[in-house]
Amino acid sequence: MGRVHPGRAERPVTITLADDELLVAEKFGPTVQGEGPSIGRRAVFIRLMNCNLTCEDCDTPYTWDGARFDLDAEGTVNSINDLLAWATAQPVDLVVITGGEPLVQQRRLVALVQGLVDAGLQVEIETNGTIAPAPDLLTSVTRFNVSPKLSSFGVGMPTSKRIKGRVLGHFAASGRAVFKFVVSSIADLDEITELVANHDLTPVYVMPEGRTAEEVTRRLAEIADPAIERGFHLTTRLHVLVWGDQRGR
Ligand code: SF4
Repeated sequence: MGRVHPGRAERPVTITLADDELLVAEKFGPTVQGEGPSIGRRAVFIRLMNCNLTCEDCDTPYTWDGARFDLDAEGTVNSINDLLAWATAQPVDLVVITGGEPLVQQRRLVALVQGLVDAGLQVEIETNGTIAPAPDLLTSVTRFNVSPKLSSFGVGMPTSKRIKGRVLGHFAASGRAVFKFVVSSIADLDEITELVANHDLTPVYVMPEGRTAEEVTRRLAEIADPAIERGFHLTTRLHVLVWGDQRGR
């Protein structure tokens, strides 16, 4: 999560995929879902490569930033069968698919999500809310955790790129989405209030920006009362409190 880097553009990975393959940055767990309604639940994570946004303080730039990372080396081609075998062998009932922006690969993602659900697992997809989900994905996923990027994160990026009203409305109407905002100031809460009103977003969770336990704890204390007053749910970033910004936790 973070600010948009004005001089940086996402560069798609050059690897060509078959229809039953996904480009994966990492898969890890068991750990816990660190944010949102399922906070604290044991889960495994599948992190996909590529993103359609370019947030400067993104905590997973190795999924999309070709200026700083060798994306062809960061991404690993995984067959959907291999991902299913790995996830269903884990002692958890929740799989979180994240990125990057997972919906960049959503055409191939449908079969993975359906396979996980058929195996009795719950599946959450983390998304920035700018790409409309395919109908097949919408009906199979347990929940989308939609995290639109606020202007404080969007330095240098036009509003029209980070906020897609029609897409947000689609998620809101689906009954399968929660909206989760990273907040660094009270002004962010006012911007969320406007977005919520404009696009009928509900339910809304807010969480503090921060990559250390100290940052997260301090900001959480600052935003807690104003967030509750505005009718928002509150979540922390549990994985940051426990493991800082360690990769793969
Ligand atoms: S949308 Fe998320 S993954 Fe993509 S650049 Fe922004 S913070 Fe990173």
